[in-house]
Amino acid sequence: MTSLFASGPTRPGSYVPHAPEDALEGIPAAQRREDLDLPHMAEIEVARHFTALAHANYGIDTGIYPLGSCTMKYNPKVNEALSRLPGLARLHPYTPVERVQGALELMDRLARALREITGMDAISLQPAAGAQGELTGILMIRAYHEARGDAGRDQVIVPDSAHGTNPATAAMAGFQVVTVPSDARGGVDIDALERALSPRVAALMLTNPNTLGIFEDRIAEIAQRVHGVGGLLYYDGANLNAIMGITRPGDMGFDAVHLNLHKTFSTPHGGGGPGAGPVGVKAPLEPFLPTPVLEATADGYRFSWERPRSIGPVRSFFGNFGMLVRAYAYIRALGPEGLREASEQAVLNARYLKHRLADVLDVPYERDAMHEFVLSARSLQRATGVRALDLAKRLLDHGVHPPTVYFPLVVEEALMIEPTETESLQRLDGLAEAIRSVVAEARRDPDAVRRAPERTPVGRLDEVRAVRAPDLGARP
Ligand SMILES: *Cc1c(COP(=O)(O)O)cnc(C)c1O
Repeated sequence: MTSLFASGPTRPGSYVPHAPEDALEGIPAAQRREDLDLPHMAEIEVARHFTALAHANYGIDTGIYPLGSCTMKYNPKVNEALSRLPGLARLHPYTPVERVQGALELMDRLARALREITGMDAISLQPAAGAQGELTGILMIRAYHEARGDAGRDQVIVPDSAHGTNPATAAMAGFQVVTVPSDARGGVDIDALERALSPRVAALMLTNPNTLGIFEDRIAEIAQRVHGVGGLLYYDGANLNAIMGITRPGDMGFDAVHLNLHKTFSTPHGGGGPGAGPVGVKAPLEPFLPTPVLEATADGYRFSWERPRSIGPVRSFFGNFGMLVRAYAYIRALGPEGLREASEQAVLNARYLKHRLADVLDVPYERDAMHEFVLSARSLQRATGVRALDLAKRLLDHGVHPPTVYFPLVVEEALMIEPTETESLQRLDGLAEAIRSVVAEARRDPDAVRRAPERTPVGRLDEVRAVRAPDLGARP
């Protein structure tokens, strides 16, 4: 097969000088590598190959990326630049603390800001992801009950709209998961919750607004009831985009919370890069924070291991420091007013988009959306056979990244849309028009939509095989 990218002996690719005649002298024959089967490829073709691949990528810097729950918002480049400052980026975790006081001060300031944003009393910056933050929080809650001699608590309650990491976390921490259904308004079914409550309950895990984008307006009552049976409340704050500067988990009655800095606080994600899932707790849980704990003393900052009731380290060293720098820069650049504005804009954008789409897809919950909303392609599927997955695939042909589909699980044929605060009116209209035209096409010519995508380098993948046996060498 010949192609532009084929290699061959006529295409030398390197400017490395040939080895001198005597280069092999003294190297035992068995260790010599003389006839290596290296590709022959001109440097410029290598550069073009990788540039072409990079152009085939879709990211937030190329267009709107409305993945609900994931918050694929624009991350200001200045935060990237700051995190790359050599004095921050080149720090080694074994550097003596006396020499990294500035970095520790940054961590302390970030922790203070996150305490204020969440209404918590203490923060650990250690966990490296949302799921790890959850596990850290639930292990602290377990340790809290155990320390009080309250040994019979073996259940964690999770609503059916929860992110999958919540039940997984509870199970990994050794708890039995008790699922409570959503009510017709999209919130926690209070009667079902009441029936699930007992002295066996260690905690309730909740996202508010939940993954339907609906604010749980009975949260104070829910908190009271859970606390009433001696349970604690865990807030999944992976996505804090709706509430920054407006309300706080601590004020709603939650005892522990994790945040995804890589969702809400300006760290690019989606390529599986490093994240950060700091955990905040109220004072009664503070003794259980992971070690080492950053402490400010008269002689400067230090890491303390003297925490007899700590659940121990959950990660090597002190967290993904680069993410902490980005989050700190983001928070300082926006300030309290700016954070609030970001949330208000995120909610406004979601409500606008929901309004623009409410007449072409089903609206399972009428209540006002917060930062995200969920629509359903159920009626469309009944009428035309076109599913949410087909709509998503067809959107790719419009050059648009589709929203999250089939989550949350409580909505059939779900499309979960989070436009984020950084999108303009023009972009929101562009997305609305793309979705509207795909729905119209589905009614006119359903087969065309079911064949999609047609304009992408590859068509429909066997998604299970793509995950289990990825062919990373395949050429478009
Ligand atoms: C993304 C997300 C998580 C998990 O965060 P990771 O960093 O991917 O582990 C948990 N809960 C919610 C609501 C999320 O959106």
